[in-house]
Amino acid sequence: MTDDEYEVLAIRYATWPKRFRWQNFHRGDPHDDAPMPLDFYVWAIRNGKRTIVVDTGYDKAEAATRNQPISHEPRAALAMAGIDCATVEDVVITHLHFDHAGSTGHFPKARFHLQEREMVFATGPCMCHDGMSSAYTADHVCAMVKNVFERRVQFHDGAEELAPGVSVHLVGGHTGGIQCVRVKTKRGWVVLASDVSHYYENFETGRAFPLYHDMDLTYRGYATLRKLASSTRHIIPGHDPLVMARYPAPAPHLDGIAARLDLDPAP
Ligand SMILES: [Zn+2]
Repeated sequence: MTDDEYEVLAIRYATWPKRFRWQNFHRGDPHDDAPMPLDFYVWAIRNGKRTIVVDTGYDKAEAATRNQPISHEPRAALAMAGIDCATVEDVVITHLHFDHAGSTGHFPKARFHLQEREMVFATGPCMCHDGMSSAYTADHVCAMVKNVFERRVQFHDGAEELAPGVSVHLVGGHTGGIQCVRVKTKRGWVVLASDVSHYYENFETGRAFPLYHDMDLTYRGYATLRKLASSTRHIIPGHDPLVMARYPAPAPHLDGIAARLDLDPAP
């Protein structure tokens, strides 16, 4: 592996099993009521030179507050994969929703990479409306504001390279400033879509997940994912259980917890 190629891990820390297909698509048909669980992930990008974590997930306290249990705290799952959150220096926050930015305190040494527009969105007038604010937790947003004052936030505006072979890309749509992450691997350019596409089916069929700030940008985001990735098989949706089914575990003890996204998926 060269210095600009990486191992990429999806790490699953929670599953919401009681969800149905109609809940996962804009204008879903209530008769479309087959189960369609929602999984929760953080991601890790690493090689011999550096480790970058993408999103922090949410912790036990947030799980109790929202009554949405987790199977592991993300820091524990990352530790199982050999990543010590206490020493991680770079964390990309794709957006500030509770399930993506709910454990920033577990990364005491990290610099957080965030799009400017996401901070504006999460602290501005859109948060006066339940439909926009309900997936944010005020304490998480305030923690990120505190990080700004501690000079621990690296703001981005658009597309920027974080390290050779790793870049972030502003998309918007789902939230005001959601970004995706592009990573060079041995099999080509992998794109961590996060909630730019919750499921494979969202971008594959052009049917949006029903939580969005801007529908037009949501659809444009699907095109951006395709443009950035080496193929559709290189796009990793943010919440799809199929990710764990398609990609191999890095080691037997991580079966069902982590998957290697830099390796080819099952056909
Ligand atoms: Zn989200």
